[in-house]
Amino acid sequence: MKHHPISLFGQHNIFFLKFFIILFLSCIATRFNFCLSNIPSSLKTLPLVGHLSFDELSLTKASRDFGNRYQYHPMAILYPNSVSDIANTIKHIWNMGHSSHLTVAARGHGHSLSGQAQTHGGIVINMESLKVYEMNVDVIGNDSPYIDVSGGELWINILHESLRYGLTPRSWTDYLHLTVGGTLSNAGVSGQAFKHGPQISNVQQLEIVTGTGEVVNCSKDQNGELFHSVLGGLGQFGIITRARILLEPAPSMVKWIRVLYSDFTAFTNDQERLISEENAFDYIEGFVIINRTGLLNNWRSSFNPQDPLQATHFKSDGKTLFCLELAKYFNFQEMDIVNQEVERHLSHLNYIQSTLFQTEVTYVEFLDRVHVSEIKLRSKGGTIEHLLLFQMKIFST
Ligand SMILES: Cc1cc2nc3c(=O)[nH]c(=O)nc-3n(C[C@H](O)[C@H](O)[C@H](O)COP(=O)(O)OP(=O)(O)OC[C@H]3O[C@@H](n4cnc5c(N)ncnc54)[C@H](O)[C@@H]3O)c2cc1C
Repeated sequence: MKHHPISLFGQHNIFFLKFFIILFLSCIATRFNFCLSNIPSSLKTLPLVGHLSFDELSLTKASRDFGNRYQYHPMAILYPNSVSDIANTIKHIWNMGHSSHLTVAARGHGHSLSGQAQTHGGIVINMESLKVYEMNVDVIGNDSPYIDVSGGELWINILHESLRYGLTPRSWTDYLHLTVGGTLSNAGVSGQAFKHGPQISNVQQLEIVTGTGEVVNCSKDQNGELFHSVLGGLGQFGIITRARILLEPAPSMVKWIRVLYSDFTAFTNDQERLISEENAFDYIEGFVIINRTGLLNNWRSSFNPQDPLQATHFKSDGKTLFCLELAKYFNFQEMDIVNQEVERHLSHLNYIQSTLFQTEVTYVEFLDRVHVSEIKLRSKGGTIEHLLLFQMKIFST
């Protein structure tokens, strides 16, 4: 006679079967929880030059970013003091396998807007504490000078260091208090990109800690796939521990210009014209001004005080305006020629004539301009919302 398998156990036995299934599942769950609860102690055994922090203050700090919209609470923060700190930690997590559910996020200066440098219950690697590579400029007999920097270095520091050699990186972001790893994981775009490409096009070589904890050098010609994946890869393909950034001779001064348009087509025509002309300007950026007040108040506060009088009297009647921001780099002895050249280029443009704002500033003042505005805004008690608006380039009025 054929029996249904369960009927073999009889009614009482079904009860025991259920009991054993529940017992079995709860054993698995306990074992899983046991694994999770043991994760911090297994991490504590890692041989590190730096350290792991589990303290609430650090965890809370790492669960926030500039955007202040997402908060993912990590389990621990790694403050690496060597590349092997990062490699050992990642290797350890890799060896735990998928069941650990542990994720890792590199954090630069935490200026993301949507939690990109956060991880829920995982490990945040605080890249700014990785100061293992002295910034090292190579200029000697080199047509393409470069600087080697740690992935957690701030661009503002790279600027100051390379200027000591009369050199400068070629492509920037508008704001320099961001890390190399943070902007290279995005793209790094500003007004120099039309000439040199974004920052990711100005990197010669990278050192990466991969997802399995290996330390790998890569460039266009060596491990090219990794190189191109990491650049613009939002931290998903490896951790940038060192980058070789291309440099060019630095100017000492900048002629900095802003003009306004009410007609979008005139604005884009002029922008395209300047971009396609060779050597017209060194920096070209366009942006929209959503002007609700009719007065261009903040406009001037983010610019240098030497605006011409006519421009301060310009009334926009609350219209949306378009701004072309231009810069021409020069050294003192070239001042007259540069003034003539700039005048010639401007004479071909169709901006609203009374809105020509121009000034001369040092190269550093120009590149660090957004930080100066940030300090002004913070001193006036700017909230995170104001700072977010500021992030959208503070150019609305
Ligand atoms: C005020 C302000 C102005 C800005 N201006 C510009 C601009 O002009 N042009 C522009 O292009 N962008 C601009 N941005 C955006 C900025 O480039 C990105 O938000 C950038 O990611 C911030 O860098 P961070 O060092 O704060 O990185 P984080 O926010 O800490 O990290 C950003 C991403 O990079 C990853 N990451 C960080 N370090 C590494 C590393 N070493 N290796 C691998 N992955 C890493 C993180 O995991 C995360 O996914 C601006 C942002 C702000 C707040």
